[in-house]
Amino acid sequence: MPVRFPDAFAGRLLTWYGRNRRRLPWREDPSPYRTWISEVMLQQTRVETGVPYFERFVRVLPDIPSLAAAPEETLLKLWQGLGYYSRARNLGKAAVILMRDHGGRLPRDYAALLALPGFGEYTAGAVASIAFDLPVPAVDGNVLRVTARLLGDRRDIGKAATKAAFRGIVAASLPSGRAGDFNQALMELGALLCLPSGAPLCGRCPVREFCRASAEGTAGVLPAGRKTVRRRTERKTVLLLLSGGRVLLRRRPGSGLLAGLWEFPSLEGWIPPGEAASVLGLDPASARALPPAGHSFSHLTWLMRGALLEAPAGVSPPPGFRFCSRRELDEELPLPSAFSVYRAVLLSLPPSRFH
Ligand code: SF4
Repeated sequence: MPVRFPDAFAGRLLTWYGRNRRRLPWREDPSPYRTWISEVMLQQTRVETGVPYFERFVRVLPDIPSLAAAPEETLLKLWQGLGYYSRARNLGKAAVILMRDHGGRLPRDYAALLALPGFGEYTAGAVASIAFDLPVPAVDGNVLRVTARLLGDRRDIGKAATKAAFRGIVAASLPSGRAGDFNQALMELGALLCLPSGAPLCGRCPVREFCRASAEGTAGVLPAGRKTVRRRTERKTVLLLLSGGRVLLRRRPGSGLLAGLWEFPSLEGWIPPGEAASVLGLDPASARALPPAGHSFSHLTWLMRGALLEAPAGVSPPPGFRFCSRRELDEELPLPSAFSVYRAVLLSLPPSRFH
């Protein structure tokens, strides 16, 4: 008999969820497509941040046919600021397969979902259970944490074996016909009360009487195995090079970090603005220092300094680059959020300097 949560647990949790769940656009007006987009979008993104992105995304691409037909640049622009751009690309790839092999619909089948680009066990489980009420678990970081605490389980939640065991526990505990609500309720408990960083709000928890960590006073030290990520650091000088009221940009290569997104030219290391201008054969007196900025990726941190430079009108862009307009920067070209400080600098310039 597999380990499972006690019989009364699901009822208590679902009652709490019915009264306390956040009213979110993909919950209030659900469809399999909206569930899918929201689940992909909310991985690594806070709900408050994700809501406006979600609303904009489904307004521009309201269904699988429109998603399948969307140019990659449109997808990346809609995703701009969320990071993990491969997720946006995989949405498009999966939509094309859905049009080709599944009649333009998400399949009501866990294994078929899992076979689609961008679908791991979590996303397939979330879509299968929430959209189709199939009895499969959806175990994300919140559910791992809640489960470890409820059971007082000290296994490392970073390990695949622990994740598999916890998936089995949730699977064995799913109430008949309410798998989607149960999965969402566990996640919501983790998001609203059973908070990370050792600060769960046990006094308000609907399932406290079933919780070993609360009874044993170990909620603050569970779950075990949270890793601190060591990130490599790169220093760079970002160049906002204007010429004739346009700014120099290029598209990054189609694979690797920030693939296919647009970027400013940059120099390795922190180079004073006047020196950066001299490197490019420009008048050092015209160079202006810009605010520093930092951005962390999963294994890398960029520490950036910036320089605003002015080249004479009519200069040719270097190979691979082109001079872009204000409208392109603002509305059309997907630029990573790593450059948001420098993007804002450009958009704050008067139209006489950048148009
Ligand atoms: Fe989490 Fe506390 Fe509830 Fe246990 S009692 S599930 S530790 S919030």
